[in-house]
Amino acid sequence: MKGFIVDSTCGKLAKWLRLMGVDIIYVNDQSTSKIELLALKTGRTIITRSGKLKKEEGIKTILLRTEHLIEQIDELDKTIGLKDKIKPFKRCPKCNTILTEVKKEEIKDRVPPFVFKTQKRFSQCPKCGKVYWQGTHYKNIKKRIKTILLSLTVLLSIIPGCMRRMFYKTTRSGVPLVRVLVQNDIDSFFITSKDIIYGSSKQKDFSIGKLDTFYITSNSVLHFPVSFESKGNSPIILNGISYPGRIVVYRDSLFDVVNIVDMETYLKGVVPQEIGFRPYGELEAVKAQAVAARTYAIKHLNLEEKPHYDLKATVADQVYRPEQKTDSVSIKAVDDTYGEVITYKGKPIEAKYSSTCGGFTSDVTDNWGKTPVAYLKTVRDAPPFTKVEENAFCRASPLFQWEKRYTKEEFYRMLKRNIMEINAVSTDSSIGNIKMFITEINPRSKRVITFKVITDKNQFLFKGLSIRKVLRENDKLLYSNFFNIKQQNDSIIINGRGAGHGCGMCQWGAIGMARIGYSYIEILKHYYRKTKIEKVY
Ligand SMILES: [Zn+2]
Ligand SMILES: [Zn+2]
Repeated sequence: MKGFIVDSTCGKLAKWLRLMGVDIIYVNDQSTSKIELLALKTGRTIITRSGKLKKEEGIKTILLRTEHLIEQIDELDKTIGLKDKIKPFKRCPKCNTILTEVKKEEIKDRVPPFVFKTQKRFSQCPKCGKVYWQGTHYKNIKKRIKTILLSLTVLLSIIPGCMRRMFYKTTRSGVPLVRVLVQNDIDSFFITSKDIIYGSSKQKDFSIGKLDTFYITSNSVLHFPVSFESKGNSPIILNGISYPGRIVVYRDSLFDVVNIVDMETYLKGVVPQEIGFRPYGELEAVKAQAVAARTYAIKHLNLEEKPHYDLKATVADQVYRPEQKTDSVSIKAVDDTYGEVITYKGKPIEAKYSSTCGGFTSDVTDNWGKTPVAYLKTVRDAPPFTKVEENAFCRASPLFQWEKRYTKEEFYRMLKRNIMEINAVSTDSSIGNIKMFITEINPRSKRVITFKVITDKNQFLFKGLSIRKVLRENDKLLYSNFFNIKQQNDSIIINGRGAGHGCGMCQWGAIGMARIGYSYIEILKHYYRKTKIEKVY
């Protein structure tokens, strides 16, 4: 095999093929004669999207029909069987030279500290000197390709870290930049600031004067995405809401607004929303919250399934309200823990947290699939040798213990309506009359893990989070799945504890621990066992 020549119509493909170790000469030149000559001289096959190349004798050409990278890889695989040619992590995507593996210590000053800390294997290009490492998000890149090209996934398990675009960007001082989806599916917006705003799109750059208002509707001829940056220190105000950092607006049929902001500023808009305004005496709990929120965010940076943003500004991820007043305790908590995240085996953890565990945190498998996670197991949320009911750290929570009572008739009506909605059926005739329900409980976490409803026509099984959905009143989910349910004469009584999924850090528990003198590190290690707190920037 003589390798390939890729012309400028497939530049991105060239880089990817080199990442996979395929021998590629990239010719960034429009002149077809030059490429043909090179092909004749070297016996290499040309890969192009341009039909301009002549079918000359002795020149092998692969004409790709699509401009979509993954489809290009797929097309190539079908024509030449890429599978056999792939040796990832072997070739410099910049200059095509075979890479050599280097000792970690040798490249210490050449890579960002976080990368140095978290990565084990490094390679270097002997020609251009560029250093490569296995990217932390390679799994997501893999996932993206997997859907289209199953056969390649194993081979793509190592993607060099040069694909910086795929990973997160940072500020000059190395703080990660977070892309937060702050408004979505809006049909128009106006933008203003006390300073001049610079706007830029692919098609043109422009500026908006101080205090001028720039109004955009869906008829706008601007090419999106458009990015807006304030020239001074004043925030950009979009639809009346102030945002620090930069704003990028994407358009599908409607507009999505993404706020690009450094991690530490982002956290100051998150921490008070997530744990509330706490008094100074509970600072350690707020610090624990800051580290958990930072860890959660870092773990969710640049996931491939969300190309425009990393995190939603809602409970779906973490509530971010930069325009709301923050408080000195939250600011101090973020500053005091600058750059710190929770790690397990050297990598940031999936830092789940929720309001009140009710005395025992849940196991990750109670709500999310079957795979156990070492640091998301049930924790007894009370001091050792004490009774959980009386001494749980989260006992001060208003939802530490709760009760719901219904008449049998009310309860069955609610259950039926919820089952219909979850199963998307419009008539209750397919549901039938409810005969009984059966709960299955995880004895360690005390959570209801399956809830089965038996009717005279059917059986309905609910697991994990959907249990709280099927038992919801109106739009409010049942507080938690830490409950028992019983029938007494003509009533149904649900006795429950806690609020939220209960997995990971218990926020009210953290507050309780801070009140009696635990430090934020002790708090975090109590909820996330076997982990470390590390400074990553
Ligand atoms: Zn190189
Ligand atoms: Zn708790």
